Amino acid sequence: MPVLVMKFGGTSVATLDRIRRAAKRVGVEVAKGYDVIVIVSAMSGKTNELVGWVGETSKFYDAREYDAVVSSGENVTAGLMALTLQEMDVPARSWQGWQVPLKTNAVHSSARIEEIPTDNINAKFAEGMKVAVVAGFQGISPDGRITTLGRGGSDTTAVAFAAAFGAERCDIYTDVDGVYTTDPRVSSKARKLDKIAFEEMLELASLGAKVLQTRSVELAMRFGVRLRVLSSFEEQSDEAGTLVCAEEDIMENRPVSGIAFSREEAKMTLISVADRPGIAAAIFGPLAEAGINVDMIIQNIAEEGRTDMTFSCPTDQVGRAEKALNAAKDKGDINFHDLVADTNVAKVSAVGIGMRSQSGVAAQMFKTLSDEGINIKVIATSEIKISVLIDRKYLELAVQALHDTFELEKP
Ligand code: ADP
Ligand code: ASP
Ligand code: MG
Repeated sequence: MPVLVMKFGGTSVATLDRIRRAAKRVGVEVAKGYDVIVIVSAMSGKTNELVGWVGETSKFYDAREYDAVVSSGENVTAGLMALTLQEMDVPARSWQGWQVPLKTNAVHSSARIEEIPTDNINAKFAEGMKVAVVAGFQGISPDGRITTLGRGGSDTTAVAFAAAFGAERCDIYTDVDGVYTTDPRVSSKARKLDKIAFEEMLELASLGAKVLQTRSVELAMRFGVRLRVLSSFEEQSDEAGTLVCAEEDIMENRPVSGIAFSREEAKMTLISVADRPGIAAAIFGPLAEAGINVDMIIQNIAEEGRTDMTFSCPTDQVGRAEKALNAAKDKGDINFHDLVADTNVAKVSAVGIGMRSQSGVAAQMFKTLSDEGINIKVIATSEIKISVLIDRKYLELAVQALHDTFELEKP
């Protein structure tokens, strides 16, 4: 039988009614002749609540116990989904990550999938089971502890299952009807895309578009999984939603395809560090060891042998970054006058594979922001993206203005 993977996010399983609705969608695919693997998230808000409980209980928590707690939301929805399907006379069984077993490395709270053996689930399909409901977001480490795949990780569970089982398609059901030119919650002019290239989706996701976890896009690209994003709230045809596909399958050629943003960005500046060979390594080495995701970097022009070094990182890593840099200072590896963290910034990015062949996109972006009176604090570019750090209060204005400038509402 052909296999289909269907993933339902938090809002799509937020209530028993919604689980029933999702189960009906699964029933439609079973009736078409598919063996279906359903990946479920926790009910919406549940994982946030669990994360909050862990933080309230223990400030510097043991990541293994964090995973034990926050993975539990998915267990509930997996069981409820299997029961709902059984009530509809669809033969279904639930699996927690360790039962599959979905094997990961031991990096708790952001583990990577290493292997998904298919025999357990395939044996059940062979016995006539039609739907395997798998708890998303969770796995098991080499030493037998529960792991989680990072926030939004059920998308990655889904794509990894699609790759492991050679699924015909991996459908990600969520609360929007596809991937838009920007977050439709921020711009009413956002337009749904019928198709988006893997590379663009990868950039959008890693620059803040939460509709797909970055790692899920990486895996889909690597294993050639047909990945589709669509709404669990609307009746669906086979062409619904957005298909994430190879660049060659897209006819459009505009410089910018989408605007992504991240509110949870901070800017850190080391004031007056010695401008000598090896200084960047002495600063960013300890940050890398502390697991800080440094994104943008600028080094000012030196004056009298000293300079300022600025970088951006996620807001929730500021404390750890400060600790790592102060420790390096105490050891005498670096020397700075002050360390200033600005947590009132946001990152806005324009993404498009068309940038490779069209020049002037950066200038157009800077002009738009300047016309709105928005000051740019840091700039970073790559072949297919331009990112700027700005004051967070201008975030919505910047996204809307850039969406207009690049005429993204026009098909
Ligand atoms: P789920 O719980 O189904 O995994 P998420 O909240 O993780 O859903 O992702 C869906 C959300 O992603 C949407 O509600 C939307 O606000 C947000 N989003 C951000 N950028 C985009 C975009 N470019 N296109 C569509 N949705 C986006
Ligand atoms: N429930 C997890 C989260 O909220 C995983 C997911 O929904 O993808 O991050
Ligand atoms: Mg999600």
